[in-house]
Amino acid sequence: MMPAKTMGVKIKMTIDGKEYECEPNQTVLDVAGANGIPIPTLCFNPLFASHRSGSCRMCLVEVVAGGRPGLQPSCTLPVSSGLSVSTVSKQVYRARRLAVEFLVSEHTQKCRDCPASGGCTLAKFCRDYDINGVPVCSECPNQRESCLLKRGVLCMGPITYANCNAYCTRKGYRCEGCHSTLVNEDVLRFGLAAYRDAGFRAEDILEGAEVFAHDKVSILEAVMKREGML
Ligand code: SF4
Ligand code: SF4
Repeated sequence: MMPAKTMGVKIKMTIDGKEYECEPNQTVLDVAGANGIPIPTLCFNPLFASHRSGSCRMCLVEVVAGGRPGLQPSCTLPVSSGLSVSTVSKQVYRARRLAVEFLVSEHTQKCRDCPASGGCTLAKFCRDYDINGVPVCSECPNQRESCLLKRGVLCMGPITYANCNAYCTRKGYRCEGCHSTLVNEDVLRFGLAAYRDAGFRAEDILEGAEVFAHDKVSILEAVMKREGML
């Protein structure tokens, strides 16, 4: 229930160039939701609306006027008079896409057994943000301490498309990258970071990547250069 001192007071803010009247105790996400403006969320649960961690970064909007400029989570961004935000700018799209990529790169994918099968929000976001694949690591049971990389084995899982249910690593072998490298450069960066953390040199990675098609290796090399690995 609204605090008594704010009852009846309306303020105006702008979303995507259109002005909306709202209550002072609302957030930008609230106003967008009330006016049918789609903003994706993962960690926000309307049943626990008083708890808003803003941690999934999916609901980011860009403040363009009337507030601290830049990207901010709309679920915790209070409305204020004159505030103007964009939900559709390039920066917003790119930041949300990065958030999904980060999630899928860390995600343990068990789609075959998942009760959300067919209605998976994360899968929907992958489609919405044009993310075509996740690394073999996401399907591999050897994550974290038992990962082959930690044992000095150059597994190509971090930069290889999944969908094989990590066939080889489940049998105790390394992934040799028979599917393909990830064409998505942002996700590739996560994979390269895993190699770097495990102490592999650029030459080792490129030697292992010889199994990939030439155009994929070129993408890999370009990203490695940008990451200062070559
Ligand atoms: S690097 Fe290889 S062993 Fe490690 S989690 Fe990825 S696929 Fe599994
Ligand atoms: S080598 Fe091929 S089948 Fe084996 S884990 Fe890698 S991508 Fe899957």
